[in-house]
Amino acid sequence: MYITTLGSHSSLQILHGAKKEGFNTMVISDEKRENFYKRFQFIDKINKYSTLDDAVKLINSEIDSIFIPHGSLIEYLKMERVKKIEIPIFGNRNLFEWESNQKKKMSLLKDSNIHIPDSFENPEEVDRLVIVKLPGAKGGKGYFIAKNKSEVKEGLNKLLESKEISSIEDVIIQEYVVGIPMYFHFFYSPILKRVELTGMDIRYETNVDGLRRLPSNLTSDIEPTFVVAGNIPVIARESLLPKAFDYAENFVNTVKNKVPPGMIGPFCLESVVTEDLDIVVFEFSGRIVAGTNLYVEGSPYSWLYWDEPMSVGRRIAREIKLASIQNKLGEITS
Ligand code: ATP
Repeated sequence: MYITTLGSHSSLQILHGAKKEGFNTMVISDEKRENFYKRFQFIDKINKYSTLDDAVKLINSEIDSIFIPHGSLIEYLKMERVKKIEIPIFGNRNLFEWESNQKKKMSLLKDSNIHIPDSFENPEEVDRLVIVKLPGAKGGKGYFIAKNKSEVKEGLNKLLESKEISSIEDVIIQEYVVGIPMYFHFFYSPILKRVELTGMDIRYETNVDGLRRLPSNLTSDIEPTFVVAGNIPVIARESLLPKAFDYAENFVNTVKNKVPPGMIGPFCLESVVTEDLDIVVFEFSGRIVAGTNLYVEGSPYSWLYWDEPMSVGRRIAREIKLASIQNKLGEITS
């Protein structure tokens, strides 16, 4: 059996982990990246495409395989092509639709009794510091911070003029939570019936993370931007973990009720920890996040479960292996 994924995002980690667990591995790669993926011995097969429609055909061509989605899948192929994937996908494909709709997405967090930032439907309602976000996982591109409603309107007009958005309905206006970002990586195992904490990271964003390198009197005229350029490892003080687990378990229960067949595999609660040690979750990802690439050898948390190097890519392959042994592949794919 092949473990297959699209060549981008966390594909190296996913395929490296699949090989460690004894699977054949295949990457579906843009022809321009073929030489890059050729460098890695743990990739058995490179199927290259020149058009995105061909990419889908190639994904469907190897019937005896399981496809692993990651953060670039929808962004690259777009939802209409992802819907055409016919081979089993690891995880819950019904969640893709929820993830692409900001309002539905935040409702899953809210229904899980997770503290989320307030949001504003209309620029007129804005009464505090806010962050205005564009749809899709574009790595923070185009986001801006505004102190009041007139700054929100001004920023939205610029986005409309530059055609980065077609309507103000496209954006989400969220209370800006002051604190420090912490992204909690979890894995829900339908086979072991447990939530595991697999790691944590901070997104390293330009230029907002660079502004602190300069004295504040020099930065007052510079607009902070949130373009992700990398990820930094972090661990949390242990007293934060019980709340993070409560959130994760509530979330798994909500997804089970609202989006059958429920959460399967990796997900991430993207949070800000405030000065009174509250965890405010401003976003979730229902699949592997790029921050897990920090832990190809496992994280300080994954060691607590496995006592062996266990990346999230390998953890996915381990779940597939466990399910296959127990004849339960149908419970972890959709
Ligand atoms: P992507 O959708 O690209 O995967 P993401 O899930 O990491 O991004 P976004 O919601 O897109 O997160 O936010 C990008 C960045 O903006 C965050 O890393 C954080 O620095 C900042 N941010 C987002 N929402 C808030 C908020 N409500 N309060 C404070 N900072 C925020």
